[in-house]
Amino acid sequence: MSNKSLVVITGASSGIGEAAAKAFSQVGHPLLLLARRLDRLEALNLPNTICEKVDVTNRDEIKAAVEKAENKFGPVDCLINNAGVMLLGLADTQDPTEWERMVQVNIMGVLNGIHVVLAGMKQRRHGTIMNVSSVGGRKTYPNHSVYCGTKFSVHAFTEQIREEAASFDVRFITIAPGVVETELLSHTTAKDIVEGYKEWKETMGQPLESEDVANSILFAYQQPQRVCIREIVLCPTRQD
Ligand code: NDP
Repeated sequence: MSNKSLVVITGASSGIGEAAAKAFSQVGHPLLLLARRLDRLEALNLPNTICEKVDVTNRDEIKAAVEKAENKFGPVDCLINNAGVMLLGLADTQDPTEWERMVQVNIMGVLNGIHVVLAGMKQRRHGTIMNVSSVGGRKTYPNHSVYCGTKFSVHAFTEQIREEAASFDVRFITIAPGVVETELLSHTTAKDIVEGYKEWKETMGQPLESEDVANSILFAYQQPQRVCIREIVLCPTRQD
């Protein structure tokens, strides 16, 4: 059994979350991995790891999974709120149910995770919550209006909750990547927008890889508890 603390990662079934799971496992942390595609979590086959089929829009499901993992590995010391969806579109033509999905997953999903673990962290006076936002939470991009709206929200509430939790020695960290090569774009239903995004991505040369973001997440977590890196913005060098 590892003597390191439990780390919870949402959206670990692909992309950045999967890379973060491998990075934290590599340095010996027991893990709780959450996503809807349980088969993808289990296929990672990481040691000291519990995989649970959880929809982050359901707070009770997160709570039950965290309780199960804490019973086995002890209290959670780090929550990485990574699960997210990007459904690009225009305000007059996009199906509003896509906006609702982004709000539910990207905003409520993150708040749900915070609500499940924060009280315990404040009580123990130790813990770190890392919310994966986006550079699109700092500036807007064409066709990204609602997606950026959800990520600006993540930036805003992370910063305020950080101030509220600081005197309990709980750290809040916003991770804001630019374009990363993952499955994220594949859920956008407007084909012309998908093609335009791919052309834009080509102008950057090389997008980030999931491992680049995972390394930043691990770096921020591994700082001494007195050090809170409040935000990391990392983008492909050529990205606007
Ligand atoms: P992926 O699509 O590869 O991963 C998204 C993850 O979120 C999947 O594991 C998916 O799991 C999970 N997820 C989606 N909806 C839910 C849900 N309702 N409940 C639980 N899990 C869910 O994309 P990325 O790795 O790129 O995205 C990770 C984060 O990084 C997101 O928050 C995204 O906004 C952010 N980001 C990504 C950028 C990029 O260019 N790729 C740039 C900036 C930020 P499953 O489907 O199995 O439930």
